Amino acid sequence: MNGSYKESLCFSRYLRTINIQDLEYLRNRVLSRYLERVSISTRVRDPIVRAREIYSKKILRCLNEVLNFVSLCEKMPLTSHMPIFYSELIRSIYDDQYDNFLRECRTVSALVKKIYKDYKRRIFETDNVEDLKRLSREFVGRIISIVKRRLRNIDLVKNIVIELSKMPCLEENIPKIVLTGMPQVGKSTFLSVVSRAKPEISNYPFTTKSIIIGHYIDEKRNIRVMILDTPGILDRPVSDMNPIELKAIYSLKYLADAIIFLIDPRKNFYYTIDQQLKTLEFVQTIIGDRKIYVAINKIDIASEEEIKEIVERLKDVGFKKEEVSMISALKRIGVNELLNKIFQDLLKIR
Ligand code: GDP
Repeated sequence: MNGSYKESLCFSRYLRTINIQDLEYLRNRVLSRYLERVSISTRVRDPIVRAREIYSKKILRCLNEVLNFVSLCEKMPLTSHMPIFYSELIRSIYDDQYDNFLRECRTVSALVKKIYKDYKRRIFETDNVEDLKRLSREFVGRIISIVKRRLRNIDLVKNIVIELSKMPCLEENIPKIVLTGMPQVGKSTFLSVVSRAKPEISNYPFTTKSIIIGHYIDEKRNIRVMILDTPGILDRPVSDMNPIELKAIYSLKYLADAIIFLIDPRKNFYYTIDQQLKTLEFVQTIIGDRKIYVAINKIDIASEEEIKEIVERLKDVGFKKEEVSMISALKRIGVNELLNKIFQDLLKIR
């Protein structure tokens, strides 16, 4: 895949084409290029002219190694050119460090070219072989030190690229629905009954959590949506999360076009109604103004009373009865109706 990620439709897949080496690798490459033999025409007899040619070729090789190395920065987009989910994710965790690195990378390219010009001129003005050797070594030392100083964040940037490239393909034009709710409420059951193929599991970047993706196709309307389950993420109060995780998770709101919050209404369920409503409030704070579709799941085994009670409790936190869906993910009751409702709203927004 060539060109920019815009042509590739899939940002994470595009990032997989970028291979960032570390600074030690570059240093070794430059030094070994410097030491490599240079062949010049035997017709050039004058020792000073020969030496000048040798050392100017050596410094040109070293320059090209550095330019080649920093050219990878041109392949990497600034956060302002990325899909918003990725840019917010990077900015929230690393502030401007990623963008600053890319800018530094461009500066390095300009700086080393300028230094090269200067040393090339000095080499041609020098009449002493020892001085030529010293100048060329000095040049190599200077460009290596510029790279080391300016690109010291390379490991961080490398890590960002690796983490993001491991994500599944989150095509920008496909609506995404994020499933939330406490563990055991039925999220993965929901995902598996609506997904065409087997859901795909991968890492949620910068956290130890995973993200599971299924694809749902509405053949009548010819719409494909991605349904995302994020176990261990939007299913517990914030207190369990470290700051990086939390920041990473806040970025979910830029990914989700709609959020489904599943509730298990049963009295003997592992989590109480209070705990589930608290988590719903947490999801609301994270998700901002994205719409949350609350669905009471497992209506095939919950009693009418249990359902009634949760409906009442939901009213208290701002969800009207008619807004709440009644479903059984396992038995596929009400699932299509819920998805239809979401699609209609999504189509209105588009
Ligand atoms: P998750 O942790 O939220 O992903 O929950 P799971 O999808 O793993 O479901 C937890 C348990 O609830 C499993 O044993 C499911 O079979 C069961 N379950 C999920 N949805 C329903 C449902 O609608 N009815 C019934 N009876 N069981 C369900």
